[in-house]
Amino acid sequence: MNIKKLAKPFRFSALLMLALCLIFSQSAIFANNEVINYGKKVTTYANGSVVDISTGQNCGIATITYISEEGISKSVTTDKNGEFKIGKLETGFYSWYVECDGYYKGSYLSYPVISGGNIYAFEISKDNEVNRTWEQQVATEGAPGDSCSFSEVVENLNKLSNSSISLFSIYNTAAPTPYVPTSVTVKKTSGAVVTVSLEDYIAHVVCREMNPAQNIYNGMSDSQKLVALKAQAIVARGYATYHYYVSRRHSSSTGYYFCDTTHCQVYDPTYSPVLAIQAANETAKQIPAIVSGSPYNWNIDYIDAVFFASCPGSTINVEDSPAFGGTPISYLKGVSCPYDIRPTLTSGHRVGFCQDGAAGYAKNGTTYASDIVTHYYTGVSVVTGQYN
Ligand SMILES: [Zn+2]
Ligand SMILES: [Zn+2]
Repeated sequence: MNIKKLAKPFRFSALLMLALCLIFSQSAIFANNEVINYGKKVTTYANGSVVDISTGQNCGIATITYISEEGISKSVTTDKNGEFKIGKLETGFYSWYVECDGYYKGSYLSYPVISGGNIYAFEISKDNEVNRTWEQQVATEGAPGDSCSFSEVVENLNKLSNSSISLFSIYNTAAPTPYVPTSVTVKKTSGAVVTVSLEDYIAHVVCREMNPAQNIYNGMSDSQKLVALKAQAIVARGYATYHYYVSRRHSSSTGYYFCDTTHCQVYDPTYSPVLAIQAANETAKQIPAIVSGSPYNWNIDYIDAVFFASCPGSTINVEDSPAFGGTPISYLKGVSCPYDIRPTLTSGHRVGFCQDGAAGYAKNGTTYASDIVTHYYTGVSVVTGQYN
């Protein structure tokens, strides 16, 4: 999943706007590689900074005036760090004017405010040469009053970005939300194939994979058990999501995604301990994933969230476990498992999330399930997805 840099630099008055054929239809603009409908306005924020184009430094206290399509004008000033914050602003197009003592006034006309948050870097100049360069550039792009298509506008903006001047940038600060399946199909040992909601499936996987009624959890309070069960729920949901979108456990010709045995995950809808159901509900849509990139180019990768029962105090690298193919995987590294509640028992392949170790963390005071999950998967975050 990528979010591209949204827009390219431009500045200056009606001349530039017309020359660039800035005839955005007022209904749509490219953002996140898709068309956003501006008919439905939402409130977002616009923050940013004003800097000297030559030095990249704060220009002093700058005033930013922004005027809506309806002509409503408001102003904000930068703080001592050269930064400004506009907490609430409706999406749409605004004209921006930036003033700072000793600098030429910067104008950015019909620039979009997009949903999900905006950060602007306004660059202004003391140097008249910069202004002239831009006027010349504009002159080569077309005469005022020309009309052209939206794709030509984008093309022209791209051409301008190849100049040595970068006066304006905009990007989306929110990382994208990964999909999780709304429901999954499971083939039961009886032979029946059932469709169940993801959360119902996870709840009844947790019930069997980490049954809170087991004697080994004696001595743990319900709230401690719940933390461990929530970690298991996040892991089970991550495993299911990975094997739904990335790598199936059963081929598509079978007509189902998962079986109800340890081959996939043990699923038993007839057994519903309250704590396990609560753990699934309280972590709904949460999965472990690798978030990388930057606001210009986000990436989110699902992980194969493998888990096992118990280890002697540490997990091992995936390539060192005979149960796997010998290829290193960045997030499946050996880590310490200091609180394993049954350290004398080794049960499982020792790769990824250790169930007894997770219980040990909860018993020893860890209160956030996500902290346990991210301990066992290197370089991974717990993110909240959306159903599809
Ligand atoms: Zn299976
Ligand atoms: Zn362990």
